Amino acid sequence: MHLLTYSRNVFLPVTDLCRNRCGYCSFRRDPPQARVIRKSEALTLLARGAEAGCSEALFSLGESPWRVAGFERLMAEVGRSNLLDYLVELCELALEAGLLPHTNAGILDDDGLRLLQPYNASMGMMLETTARLRSHDGSPGKRPDVRLDHIARAGRLQIPFTTGILIGIGESWADRKESLEAIAGLHRTYDHIQEVIIQPLDPKPGTALARAPRPGIEDLRQVVSMARDILPPEVAVQVPPNLVDPLPLADAGADDLGGISPVTSDWINPDHPWPGPEELRMHLKGYILKERLPVYPRFILRRWHGQKTRALLTALASEDGLRRKSISPKIERCLIREEDLA
Ligand code: SF4
Repeated sequence: MHLLTYSRNVFLPVTDLCRNRCGYCSFRRDPPQARVIRKSEALTLLARGAEAGCSEALFSLGESPWRVAGFERLMAEVGRSNLLDYLVELCELALEAGLLPHTNAGILDDDGLRLLQPYNASMGMMLETTARLRSHDGSPGKRPDVRLDHIARAGRLQIPFTTGILIGIGESWADRKESLEAIAGLHRTYDHIQEVIIQPLDPKPGTALARAPRPGIEDLRQVVSMARDILPPEVAVQVPPNLVDPLPLADAGADDLGGISPVTSDWINPDHPWPGPEELRMHLKGYILKERLPVYPRFILRRWHGQKTRALLTALASEDGLRRKSISPKIERCLIREEDLA
């Protein structure tokens, strides 16, 4: 039987302030609506995630918010001035709660990547597409060369990396193929891509792409199958089960269902709740559904995950590098403390 993996996560929206203006986004906000997560909110979410047996703290934020007017005032509201230092602090809180950070911070320079690397089991950023599209006209950070360069630099730093392509934002079939080939090429050079998300557009009211057609299941099946052909076999093809029926896509070659949260909503697609693992298990008959960690087993063996995540990973990983099962969050925290003392 074919194996399908997923990770149990808690989703922390660090800030919705963003320098880009993508034509499909309903996440970004301008001041005064924009906000930065407070430490107390983060602590509450992390505690709820730990209690629900999650292993991953997904930190997500708008891109280069420090380049947007009003950033300093927002940071002052949470008593900080440097967002990346604050992110490190939040990652440390996650590790203390027994959760492995996975940060999606958009484009960062090498110093930013190096700062976050030790505290993260893996990191990520969607390539989205190698095409220049109208939906990215207001988004300097979505220039394909800038994004490919970021993914390459993460590879040079040996950061296990998640990326993906967005389907339905104006790209052609040739663009989809070129995007997947570009990711495969970077992986062949740096060997650091753990999974590639095939993410369908969810048209949101009030956005430029509100009336864009939602990608159909047949098209998505074809993209998954194309991805499986183009990407090396060790790179998982991931599909989000809150946006699309995963069964036909698993039949087309998808290997992974991504992060599923029993605690928080998908802040990028808040109208689409995640199905639970049991519901998925019932639906995906013929597949073995297994929980993994936010870093894939081969990167654990190579010790590429952040050095500060080592003790927690040892406690959470089973012999096959997936998620150790059948231990309560309480016992898990005791194990982690013992690891810390060792
Ligand atoms: S999709 Fe991401 S990068 Fe684009 S505007 Fe929204 S938050 Fe910013």
